[in-house]
Amino acid sequence: MPELPEVETIARGLANAVAGKTIASATVSMAKIAVAPAGLAFPVDLPGETIVSVSRRAKFIVIGLSSGRRLTVHLRMTGRLIFQPAGRLQPYPYTHVSLDFTDGSRVAFADVRQFGRMRLLEHDEVWDADGGVEPLSEGFTCELFVSMLDERRTPIKVLLLDQSRIAGIGNIYACEALWEAGIRPSRPAYKVSRPARRRLHSALRDVLARSIEARGTSVDDYVDAEGLKGGFQNQLSVYGRLDQPCLRCGKPIVRTVLSQRGTWWCRACQR
Ligand SMILES: [Zn+2]
Repeated sequence: MPELPEVETIARGLANAVAGKTIASATVSMAKIAVAPAGLAFPVDLPGETIVSVSRRAKFIVIGLSSGRRLTVHLRMTGRLIFQPAGRLQPYPYTHVSLDFTDGSRVAFADVRQFGRMRLLEHDEVWDADGGVEPLSEGFTCELFVSMLDERRTPIKVLLLDQSRIAGIGNIYACEALWEAGIRPSRPAYKVSRPARRRLHSALRDVLARSIEARGTSVDDYVDAEGLKGGFQNQLSVYGRLDQPCLRCGKPIVRTVLSQRGTWWCRACQR
């Protein structure tokens, strides 16, 4: 599933491609993908809207429209938002929603497994993803993170994935940050020492920033808005590296399961 760096990369690519463009028509071929408030419909209410912004909140892409309405997009497992320039339109496999612009370009929302959603929000609709703090924002201070772990018996890795606490972190970056900070993924959060919490805070920001720099991690379906793979899969330290030597201590990386999620870590240097 695309996580913060992948969604950020897509949002930046789309912002460059479609900001200022006006929607000429909106086509929906699978109704459950395109969710609208009662009385509104994509094909009727989107034409005439100009894209004023494209940004990211948590794992959502947020498209600001000239009417004050917004479109939120969650890609879930296999969703893709693909931009096609004018003159180079072609059918993209598994496209369920198309936004065609007045200049002849298009954004296609494609999804093999159909779990992704585009949702139209009214002007005054209150929406804040699942409410977690953005880990690359100034609000995500070391003090906030250190206190977030107090009295929490849940495994530290499960806490990192809780979108109501911290936004946008998924399996890849939780594994990577815990390895970088030398913390066992199953350790109850409250038992993580204060110095280790500070290391983890810094590791989270570091790994997310480095992945954005590399345009995200393509280990499964993720591609950016131009349909290109990211580059961070070549820089992963622990995720997916079963039985390969730990880059720090040389012992083999193990894979265990925590909350039904594959978890890669080093028994020797994560405590
Ligand atoms: Zn190790």
